[in-house]
Amino acid sequence: RDTLIEVKNLKKFFQIGDNTLKAVNDISFDIKRGETLGVVGESGCGKSTAGRTMLRLYEPTEGDILFEGKSIRNLNPQEMKAMRRNIQMIFQDPYASLNPRMTVGDIIGEALDIHGLATGEKRKQRIQELLSLVSLNPEHMNRFPHEFSGGQRQRIGIARALAVEPKFIVCDEPISALDVSVQAQVVNLLESLQEKMGLTYMFIAHDLSMVKYISDRVAVMYLGKMVELAESDALYEKPLHPYTQALLSAIPIPDPELERKRERIVLQGDVPSPMNPPSGCHFRTRCPKAMPECAAAEPVWKEVEPGHFTACHLYN
Ligand code: SF4
Ligand code: MG
Repeated sequence: RDTLIEVKNLKKFFQIGDNTLKAVNDISFDIKRGETLGVVGESGCGKSTAGRTMLRLYEPTEGDILFEGKSIRNLNPQEMKAMRRNIQMIFQDPYASLNPRMTVGDIIGEALDIHGLATGEKRKQRIQELLSLVSLNPEHMNRFPHEFSGGQRQRIGIARALAVEPKFIVCDEPISALDVSVQAQVVNLLESLQEKMGLTYMFIAHDLSMVKYISDRVAVMYLGKMVELAESDALYEKPLHPYTQALLSAIPIPDPELERKRERIVLQGDVPSPMNPPSGCHFRTRCPKAMPECAAAEPVWKEVEPGHFTACHLYN
């Protein structure tokens, strides 16, 4: 698989009064064509900000994003508009991201209009095609968002993203706000669309159990940093970073026998403020394996095993 997206030393800082919020603080990784990269972390870890900055919905503070080898950082507004056809986003709250005063047909049609993709009867056909693609009734194109259930609204958000035939979609917690019973349906839909259309996903979630089945590789973030990245199997079977180990130990195992035997790592304390993260390793105030050097120096991002990256002094 070739590389579709390359993120290089990306930073996104927000100035809040006298403080600097380092929401995304120097992360580097790539995403292969056709793969799903899961990105996991607690709220405030910077995962959503990373996704938005990669699409330039937020301007990066530093670093670069390459799409098919080409930087999108310095594209002018015209070029960036054309680039938006390739890179789309699906949001966590499908209701908040759909204009309540627009019909579903116009919400999807608007995406077609912006890029001048279809007019008249062709536009209507295309809208109906897109509704069918996400298993919604094409006859319902004149209905309004409130007439649909949560899961259906997320399908509308997906149809809108697909209208421009993107290559890459950032899915920002697309199932977190949905009932458990419909979560699997939306995940299955995303997977079948990926297969059909050769899509590449970044799938953001707040816990590791949600991304386990959909992701080829998984990255874990903590306080603006990426702390581990690996093939899914490697990450779940042999997590290297103490934070990943703790997150994994919190996922219940259905087998009560195994559940009783396994060791649960309970993290002490709260996540520190991203305005004022600890010196050295940002995780050290909660890390059960912290050593003196963890306060002195920030651990470097390192490929510990082929394709398995982490930033932790235990592996130096
Ligand atoms: Fe824990 Fe130190 Fe590794 Fe940070 S660098 S995760 S504090 S062992
Ligand atoms: Mg979020």
